[in-house]
Amino acid sequence: MTKVKYGLPEKIIYCKRCLMSNQKPHSVNETTHTSTSLKETMKIDSSGACDACNYADYKKNKINWEKRENQLVTMLEKYRKNDGSYDCIVSGSGGKDSVQVAHMLKYKYGMHPLTVTWAPHMYTDAGKKNLESWINIGGFDNLLFTTNGKVMKKLTYEAFKNLYFPFQPFKFGIKFWATKMALKFNIKLVMYGEPYAEYGSTPLSEAEAPSLDLKYFVNDSKNIYLGGMLDSELKKKYNFSNNDLLPFMPIRSIDIKNKNVNVEYLGWYINWDPQKAFYYASENCGFMPDDERTEGTYGKYSSIDDKIDGLHYFTHYIKFGLGRCSFDASQEIRNGHITRAEGIALKDKFDGEFPSRYFKTCLDYMDITEDKFWEITDKARSEHIWAKKDNDWALKSILKINKND
Ligand SMILES: [Zn+2]
Repeated sequence: MTKVKYGLPEKIIYCKRCLMSNQKPHSVNETTHTSTSLKETMKIDSSGACDACNYADYKKNKINWEKRENQLVTMLEKYRKNDGSYDCIVSGSGGKDSVQVAHMLKYKYGMHPLTVTWAPHMYTDAGKKNLESWINIGGFDNLLFTTNGKVMKKLTYEAFKNLYFPFQPFKFGIKFWATKMALKFNIKLVMYGEPYAEYGSTPLSEAEAPSLDLKYFVNDSKNIYLGGMLDSELKKKYNFSNNDLLPFMPIRSIDIKNKNVNVEYLGWYINWDPQKAFYYASENCGFMPDDERTEGTYGKYSSIDDKIDGLHYFTHYIKFGLGRCSFDASQEIRNGHITRAEGIALKDKFDGEFPSRYFKTCLDYMDITEDKFWEITDKARSEHIWAKKDNDWALKSILKINKND
């Protein structure tokens, strides 16, 4: 019998319109994530379209964007302050999307954002420059928080070993930190860029609301998991104190109850397009793409801040059979920038390309050998996705071009 990992659907079904499959997992509250967690995954409907493609249709055909922008103006009016204080928080590392959110809020809609940054595991030169440009060319106050590197490294290692998810410690930051800062500074509005529904990372029904559900960053359980381990186990293993783990802990209901903090997506109110965000960020905040093509894909301006980004997408490819190029190309297919056939050709060329540029840096960061890396990697492969052919691993299910592409 085929051993299927992570609760993924055993039969792999590709979307007929983009390059995604029913293996794409939904986003979860990471403090509940264990090595035995079963994943909810993106749905493909009876016509063969995935949730993300259906959301793209919904954006195109059903949403009245003029009305949505009016709703935005009304909503912002409720929060705007003119007494010199901040009225909203924008979370970001200086990437194109957060840069556009902050810039539009401040210069188009007259808000007074405090931008907050949870530092990547290891900033790339491009990432650092873009953070500086955001502040210096865009013109923003920014609060950069960098976690205790000793703790972050161990957590990255545990997340890699237990969950095959070395990017998880950064996820704690981007999901929790902005709201924690909102609570701390008594700011009532937190704005993110594109809704999770844009990528099919939440059920389509959640696209009805402009706000992010509290379940993604609030967790009241006694059992908090970090890197797939109970926080008490982590403390014991590494002699960490409560204080060492504080930045990674979820928000508790009691901390946010009656505080009226609202966490929303600008991409719910305005028609979001990552390619346009790139042009916008370049024009208004001096955002620069990387000087090399990003490994695993054909572009050079998405998720380029962290030296671990490439490894993150590679782990996704191993676990779910979906690599970095599949994500980028699917998004561009939905936005009408390329055809599906072009997307498949790009996928054939780049998906799963090994992230060698910062590989050694990542091994050093997690303090593991290359052998250990491959041992953990091979253990993370699910039998319904991978088979060994002539001593090499190969994907079992390959996406083919169909006649309408
Ligand atoms: Zn699709």
